[in-house]
Amino acid sequence: MTPQAKIEILQHLIQIPSVNDHEAQVADYIASLFDPYPQAKIEKVTYAPGRDNLVVTIGNAGPQLGLCGHMDVVAAGDEGAWQHAPFAGEIVGDQLFGRGASDMKSGLAAIVITLLEFLEQGTQLPGSIRLLATVGEETGEYGAAQLTAAGYADDLAGLIIAEPSGLDNVVYKARGVIDYKVVSTGKAIHSAQPEKGINAIDNLMKFYNAVGPVMAKYTQTDPVLGGLLHNVDLISGGEQVNSIPAHAELMANMRTIPAYPNQLIYDDLEALIAQLNQEPGVQLDLSYSYPEEAIPGDPQAPLVQLAKQVSDQVCGHDTQIVGSGGANDGAEFLQAKADFTSIEIGPGSNTSHQVDEYVSIKEYLQAITLYETLAPAFLKLAQRPATI
Ligand SMILES: [Zn+2]
Repeated sequence: MTPQAKIEILQHLIQIPSVNDHEAQVADYIASLFDPYPQAKIEKVTYAPGRDNLVVTIGNAGPQLGLCGHMDVVAAGDEGAWQHAPFAGEIVGDQLFGRGASDMKSGLAAIVITLLEFLEQGTQLPGSIRLLATVGEETGEYGAAQLTAAGYADDLAGLIIAEPSGLDNVVYKARGVIDYKVVSTGKAIHSAQPEKGINAIDNLMKFYNAVGPVMAKYTQTDPVLGGLLHNVDLISGGEQVNSIPAHAELMANMRTIPAYPNQLIYDDLEALIAQLNQEPGVQLDLSYSYPEEAIPGDPQAPLVQLAKQVSDQVCGHDTQIVGSGGANDGAEFLQAKADFTSIEIGPGSNTSHQVDEYVSIKEYLQAITLYETLAPAFLKLAQRPATI
């Protein structure tokens, strides 16, 4: 495939505005690229109407390597603030602009093209490669959760997630995340008679004041990721100034570390809620949205070391082996039956989720070479199970 054709595939992907939805259009377009290759096994796994995950498997018997990318992007925000229209795929010099140029349609295009070029060239792979293109990564990684539950990661020997680490970083370890919500229900009454009502805000504040000291018990620090993070980021309540509030709620975001499995934190939060609910009039309800476990990782794992070696060689830089403060689809896929290493390495810039998001075309094309070198090398290594 010519570099021009590779760039056009990325532009086409950016021109599909799959903002937290509509991934089926991305999946259909990617599937269409495999039309000339009936030997590629194509599966669509529907999450919701208009939202399909896509799985494409190529190759032979032997170990299987997963290449993963999400098809959704975050919103463009104020489009007037962009110098380059967010869904145009405009090119200026070495920069290709658009929502998803960095996070992560360039990575997605690069892994798709990797499979296409193996098919085009008739490469005999010492195993198989499975493209896992997911929905809803940005809003909870539920596409990856669905594919994992359906068994699509059960035969993996390794997983490469093409998120925008930059090719000079291999991410082997990542924080987990717990977003939780506490709803306090009280009883509204005229504020002249507070003794006849229940103040939902007062009761919510009991939780707010107590949760800090509970989280402060988690004192261990991960040498790469740092300590556990807990922040209450949203709070609302009350109806009007002369009514005792019947409703109040808060949301908190936690960034966890491998030393503390999420269950420990769930147990603590639930115990605190149960304890406060013993007090007269207190009614607090706790819920979570799409929590993710931290990824402990091993910097010496063969896939980590090999990715560094290949990236050094392809790009001529000294690739760093690092941790990530954000969660990724790997947290879900690692729940599969197989025991494997998941890494992140992919093209991108520090403009993810911002206006005028872009990727360097040079880095995008290098990423394709990197995956095309790394994938067969890993499969070869994985054929000898004693070494991985
Ligand atoms: Zn991403």
